[in-house]
Amino acid sequence: MLTIDGSKGEGGGQIVRSALGLAVRTGTPVTLENIRAGRQKPGLKRQHLTAVQAAARVGAARVEGAELNSGRLVFEPQAILGGTHEHHIGSAGSATLVLQTVIPALLAADTPSTVVVTGGTHNDLAPPFDFLERVWLPLLKRMGAQIELRLERAGFYPAGGGRVVAEITPGPLSPLTLDARGEILTRRVRALLANLPGHIGLREAETACAALGWTGADARPEHVAADGPGNMVIVEVACAHAHALFSAVGRRGKRAEQVAEQAAAECAAWLALDVPVGPHLADQLILPLALAGGGGFRTVPPTLHTRTQVQTVQRFLPEVAVTLTPEDHEDGPWALRVSRR
Ligand code: ATP
Repeated sequence: MLTIDGSKGEGGGQIVRSALGLAVRTGTPVTLENIRAGRQKPGLKRQHLTAVQAAARVGAARVEGAELNSGRLVFEPQAILGGTHEHHIGSAGSATLVLQTVIPALLAADTPSTVVVTGGTHNDLAPPFDFLERVWLPLLKRMGAQIELRLERAGFYPAGGGRVVAEITPGPLSPLTLDARGEILTRRVRALLANLPGHIGLREAETACAALGWTGADARPEHVAADGPGNMVIVEVACAHAHALFSAVGRRGKRAEQVAEQAAAECAAWLALDVPVGPHLADQLILPLALAGGGGFRTVPPTLHTRTQVQTVQRFLPEVAVTLTPEDHEDGPWALRVSRR
């Protein structure tokens, strides 16, 4: 039985989701201790608990400690079950993070799967559906994965009510090396609005373009259907070899200009380094690359999420070496490399 200390490194929900996904995929029993100990409200919140339940369903796992606020979990997977799985977070917790928990395991099931998750689809501090669809999924497809994703309804905090569907056909992942982003092809700003007036989106589109010095870029508000009010600014850059997407969530009390400037600043930082992989994609590509047993990418200086993900993956896949090194100096481009030991 592997023991993972959930307070180490980034010390949040990511360790829990990655550990459970890898436990099912590799058939490894695991005990998680000090779950989210570093957070103000530690233990399993609703979104994490749904990820535990989703992993337990897929892994036909025996589980102890799967309760709200639980700080310790024993998880013993027995199988990898394809088929139809439906998970309701019951709050606006991130549905995309639940999907990312089970997809790596379902790629190794004996039968195809359909996974439906309801909850938030455009959350703060989680990949929005658009990020999964346009950034993460195309790279997994280049690695050979057969996955289709569908957004059936958007869900924003606090109302939730969003619905995402994934269709997964099992198959192996092959290595991918992503070292250059290539020529910039298009730039775009979308200001998503649910049950909010259009002027918010117009101000956001204008502010993001001004902050990035983009004249003539496609920038506009986009009204989406959802249960409650919601707003997200999405800044996208399509390059010859990579697609980047940066987002920021609007909320009551936060000026529209501030939301747009936040998304634009993340994009500007990525553009400045001339690397293909941004900070969030970096931590989300490590697990698939490690399962593929090779490849790598050039990226921005690693976040704590990225460093922690390297540690977690190495615990479950000791046969794979993952290295993370600065190319020249700590503030410049970094390279992540995956190889078999
Ligand atoms: P916590 O324990 O901090 O409450 P959590 O379970 O909500 O955690 P994290 O452990 O912080 O979430 O993991 C969040 C994941 O979402 C990471 O993979 C991170 O890269 C990703 N992420 C966060 N913001 C974005 C964004 N704007 N775009 C894409 N991915 C994002």
